[in-house]
Amino acid sequence: CIAIKQLSKRFSPLGPLVLDSVDLDVAPGEFVTLLGASGCGKSTMLNLIAGLERPTSGSISAPKVAFMFQDASLFPWLSAQRNVELALELRGVPRLRRSIEAARLLDVVHLTDAAHKKPHELSGGMRQRVALARSLAQDREALLMDEPFAALDAITRDLLHEELLRVWRETGRTIIFITHNVREAVLLGQRVLLMSSRPGRVVGEWSTTGQDAAALTTHITAELRK
Ligand code: ATP
Ligand code: MG
Repeated sequence: CIAIKQLSKRFSPLGPLVLDSVDLDVAPGEFVTLLGASGCGKSTMLNLIAGLERPTSGSISAPKVAFMFQDASLFPWLSAQRNVELALELRGVPRLRRSIEAARLLDVVHLTDAAHKKPHELSGGMRQRVALARSLAQDREALLMDEPFAALDAITRDLLHEELLRVWRETGRTIIFITHNVREAVLLGQRVLLMSSRPGRVVGEWSTTGQDAAALTTHITAELRK
């Protein structure tokens, strides 16, 4: 689904290597989480995969992706329903089907009752759920998520974890999810990648399948602090 070979990135010719010869393969339908200290190049990596930045060298092959950021960046003057409909409109979905499909997607994220509300009338967690519904409306094979739940309280975050995992199982999307939170990375990912900085590389990789989550979290936390 996503294949990255020897990917390097500098933002200026004499600048530091933000990414140094990174190799990464993500299988269709796989859920990968990406951990690493601030500034190690996580967002740069997702931006390159999304085509928002160009590599200095190396190659990336990826399907079309939807992107979800830390802040929901919804259109403030549009209701939740209209925000989702807009993504469907950009995809060319006919008008009559748009409202039905947007309502269905808001139901997927349990926001049917708030469909008519504008972003300022919603909580932070609800706004992120609208953003998730909008990402799903784009109907891309892969979903890139850059710390989408970082600004939320722990209870809301736990609810959204459950919803995201359910959506992932139901839709079979490929997901790459950036976080600073080791527990979150272990809980969500089938595979956890750890990046280091100077230069940015993938320095650790763990499968979470069949692993004890608490023990793995402790182990990765120790690696992160090295
Ligand atoms: P955080 O966890 O804080 O979000 P990150 O791992 O996502 O960090 P990046 O945003 O990818 O880190 O940044 C990696 C490095 O690249 C940093 O040193 C940053 O200053 C640099 N960088 C990022 N974007 C640019 C840019 N547009 N121009 C120049 N340097 C940049
Ligand atoms: Mg970042």
